[in-house]
Amino acid sequence: MKFYSTNNKDQKVSLKEAVIKGLAPDQGLYMPEEIPILHPSFIENLPALSFQEIGYEVINAVFGKDLTEEQIIDLVDHTLSFDAPLVKVEEDVYSLELFHGPTLAFKDFGARFCSKLMSLLVENQKVRVLVATSGDTGSAVANGFYKVPGVEVIILYPTGKVSELQEKQFTTLGENITALEVDGVFDDCQSMVKEAFLDQELNKEMLLTSANSINIARWIPQCLYYFYAYSRLPASDKKLVFSVPSGNFGNIAAGMLAERMGLPIHTFVAATNVNKVVPDFLKGVPFRARPSLQTISNSMDVGNPSNFYRLLDLYPEPNTLKEMIRGYFYDDATTREAMQEVKAKTGYTMDPHGAVAYLGLKDFMATNPGYLGVFLETAHPGKFRDVVEAVHQEEVVLPERLAAFLDGEKKTERMANDYQEFKAYLLSKK
Ligand SMILES: *Cc1c(COP(=O)(O)O)cnc(C)c1O
Repeated sequence: MKFYSTNNKDQKVSLKEAVIKGLAPDQGLYMPEEIPILHPSFIENLPALSFQEIGYEVINAVFGKDLTEEQIIDLVDHTLSFDAPLVKVEEDVYSLELFHGPTLAFKDFGARFCSKLMSLLVENQKVRVLVATSGDTGSAVANGFYKVPGVEVIILYPTGKVSELQEKQFTTLGENITALEVDGVFDDCQSMVKEAFLDQELNKEMLLTSANSINIARWIPQCLYYFYAYSRLPASDKKLVFSVPSGNFGNIAAGMLAERMGLPIHTFVAATNVNKVVPDFLKGVPFRARPSLQTISNSMDVGNPSNFYRLLDLYPEPNTLKEMIRGYFYDDATTREAMQEVKAKTGYTMDPHGAVAYLGLKDFMATNPGYLGVFLETAHPGKFRDVVEAVHQEEVVLPERLAAFLDGEKKTERMANDYQEFKAYLLSKK
């Protein structure tokens, strides 16, 4: 399978190049040149399959020409080493819990797939993975790549804008993981990383790669849990809607990839916090990057969602895109209220990101009857303990593996919001 750039469909590269480059040289995002359509009998038979069995089939459809059967099994088993249970919250409303991985957020899926695939593709070369994070990417990537031989991970994050627990998950590991604390916001970190990938001088000196959600090795495996969720829903004639709490829009774009591969999803809800570039676009406002605003769902504090062009690419006709995806956005007060109400009504505890998705789902379903709805719960409530405890006035019990990070010692290096300083740093570590 070849992968083309969203900026130029004639610019095709191999799987290895797409994964190592991350971003195309023309700054486009890589897309599979052909989206495989899965056989209807596979879709029908989904309820009889395990998560892993679903994974082998879907991953084989995309990567089968580039990897051996053994490599695919290895990749899928490594990625899907934990469950993604579907929990009924209300009548016709389900939570897809994607937080049962090592760092308790959905990014574990992409990060685990990515680290495994990179180690298969690079063989004996030394690679540096550059990551900009607003929180959860850093912890998922750091833990996914921790002690992977031949791979150095450098994480850039905005100082003071990441929760203590998130920060501890990628600043305490050491070994092949370095954390740089940048005086700026997430978008500044992302710009510095993007600039490094485009810097020819730097790229002559070292093999740089990305593990951000723009990388196909992070992005594509996320489609797996949409298939799995579908397989675990009760049989129903109702139309299916997925609500996805969105920041960089990689997760929702992966759901749309699943739909294009043949999964019968009728509608997607793009639920955001007040960083609402995409909901605005869906209402007819021209797409325009904006500075990001800080919220309680900080992993979605993104003003320039980098996977946006994947949405356009998956549904090139503007009307189809606007029919497939509905935008909703919420401020922090509304998000807190939803957390409180759902807990009071059903006993279910949501993290702020999941709560934004829940709100979008409910608002969509209120005006569109006859749907079965799934919202993606992207993080364990304990990852956003301060917010969750303040809302419910009770302690959130941290899973043990998360609590263990808090005992670690934070080790970071400070970095100005200045590309030249970052570049000099990289060169000094050659
Ligand atoms: C990253 C993240 C999101 C946003 O996902 P995107 O793919 O960037 O849209 C939502 N929730 C949590 C908990 C996250 O970590």
